[in-house]
Amino acid sequence: MTALAIATEDIAPAPGPAPDPGPVRPRMLTGDRPTGRLHLGHYAGSLANRIRLHRRYQSFFIVADLHMLTTKNSRADIAGIGPRAADMVLDSLAAGLDPAHSVFYLQSGVPEVAELSLLLSSLVSVPRLQRIPSLKEMARHAGQREMPFALLGYPVLQAADILAVKATTVPVGRDNSAHVEVARELARRFNRRYGAVFPVPALVPADVPALPGTDGRAKMSKSLGNAIYLSDPPDEVVAKVRRMYTDPARTSPAVPGTVEGNPVFVYHEVFSDRPAEVADLKERYRSGRVGDAEVKEKLAAALNRFLDPIRERRAALAADQGLVEELIVTGTERTRHEVRRTVAEVRAAMGLTTALAGFRAAARSRAR
Ligand code: ATP
Ligand code: MG
Repeated sequence: MTALAIATEDIAPAPGPAPDPGPVRPRMLTGDRPTGRLHLGHYAGSLANRIRLHRRYQSFFIVADLHMLTTKNSRADIAGIGPRAADMVLDSLAAGLDPAHSVFYLQSGVPEVAELSLLLSSLVSVPRLQRIPSLKEMARHAGQREMPFALLGYPVLQAADILAVKATTVPVGRDNSAHVEVARELARRFNRRYGAVFPVPALVPADVPALPGTDGRAKMSKSLGNAIYLSDPPDEVVAKVRRMYTDPARTSPAVPGTVEGNPVFVYHEVFSDRPAEVADLKERYRSGRVGDAEVKEKLAAALNRFLDPIRERRAALAADQGLVEELIVTGTERTRHEVRRTVAEVRAAMGLTTALAGFRAAARSRAR
């Protein structure tokens, strides 16, 4: 992994008025299910890539609450959508997404996407979907012994999200690329059968391994309780880093330690802005000339240097009451407008509008 600190020019708003996007600017779509605040794993795995890319496109960021229902559909889960969506958007903006280049929208506010998903579902087989390993993994993760029907359809609904806004580019984490493959297949199949309506979206893989958790497990994850959140206050970061898992074979600073795969050094490498300090710590760790306490103290300081500007922007954005809500409302309206247009085009291309139009004409002529 390489240091992920985002260059300031990628975060600072472009000077002067936002450039006119023009009608042909390609579209990007990506997003998350509203399941909680964003952590360092989200930053490394997807957010950094989004921040780097988003100004080149008309960028749509979906808050995929309908997708959340495929594994989390209790009343409490649903009641949490609002605050969690607001937190996610706030975290994303604080981390560096520019609202002038980003459309944030709530999936359930665009019900036409469900219609498109239904129309696309006749173009894919059940065995094709059953072969996708991430779906079985998600079912297991959610404690489901049998595959819910909605979860099997997850990639089809995701294809509908992507194709509904005619996205050309979809940045994805490794676990999601198989879903975007389905979207590409559906676009091609639809276009062949009914006429060219959809661009075939290109995948932009974020080619980074998962960020390990503070407990040394392979993946930082909310539900594993091993995450450092972008919104954690500095003292909480210090406390979490102090408790972090390191090389268990090291009983004293004089014992040579292993750097490779050691989460403390993984974080140093990904988030520190001081490569010389990291190289020196590694050197001394390998030769038994540094204590874990110093390595961790420097890591907590590096993480706090990385998170400080994010915290500052987060506080400023949160103080602007109603800002995030307004972005979600206008983004959802904007997206709905686009999606309605696409679905009308799809229905026309399929000839689905013909029968009712014929009935209407006949009914009108009888009335005369
Ligand atoms: P949960 O515990 O509820 O599964 P989570 O913390 O694992 O939550 P998700 O909502 O599952 O987070 O993650 C959304 C996306 O964020 C993933 O598809 C992946 O691309 C990225 N992501 C999450 N955790 C990591 C991580 N530790 N390293 C890299 N990318 C990650
Ligand atoms: Mg997860």
